[in-house]
Amino acid sequence: MEVKLTEDRGRLAERLQGITGENVMLCYQCKKCTLGCPSAYAMKMKPHELMRALQLGLEDPVLWSGTMWICLSCETCNTRCPQDINILKLIDGLRTYYLNRDYYNPVRELPMMHRLFLKLVRRFGRIYELGLVFILNLKMVDPLKDTDMAMPMFLRGKLKFFPHRSEGAKELRKVMSRLEAMEEER
Ligand code: SF4
Ligand code: SF4
Repeated sequence: MEVKLTEDRGRLAERLQGITGENVMLCYQCKKCTLGCPSAYAMKMKPHELMRALQLGLEDPVLWSGTMWICLSCETCNTRCPQDINILKLIDGLRTYYLNRDYYNPVRELPMMHRLFLKLVRRFGRIYELGLVFILNLKMVDPLKDTDMAMPMFLRGKLKFFPHRSEGAKELRKVMSRLEAMEEER
């Protein structure tokens, strides 16, 4: 596919730099990020390919790949990048920018999970695993999904029936509100 570099295509990289402070143009395709990425095997567009697509402003392929939602946020790519690019920050920037926008997403349940995860953390100061899975399954109209996995975890005490509120929940809520306000100001 021939790609013409136009001013319009460069805007995606600029927009992301505005949100994250990271410059995708510094990437020279060494692939170290992809070689260390634990979820690259499941990505249609691997981390180094994502970087190239962002450089070229290929917005639709980036969104259609679903890579930003498959990333585990483990930060391995960041530690391996010789250009010191914070790849996760860029991925988080994409998540934030597209979270409430209407676009084709091959893994539709993941943005939903992302929102729900943050809501539970905001409420309890930590994640409430059972609540997360149960609400997510209800939304996907499959409430009993994964119960075979949940039972052994219950029996071993790895899953709690009721949520546990963290002592720092109030402070965390304040930090999250402050971050949201900063994001809106940008
Ligand atoms: S942060 Fe995401 S892209 Fe980077 S190595 Fe981890 S899973 Fe892969
Ligand atoms: S490790 Fe850094 S420079 Fe290398 S391909 Fe990944 S983002 Fe680009």
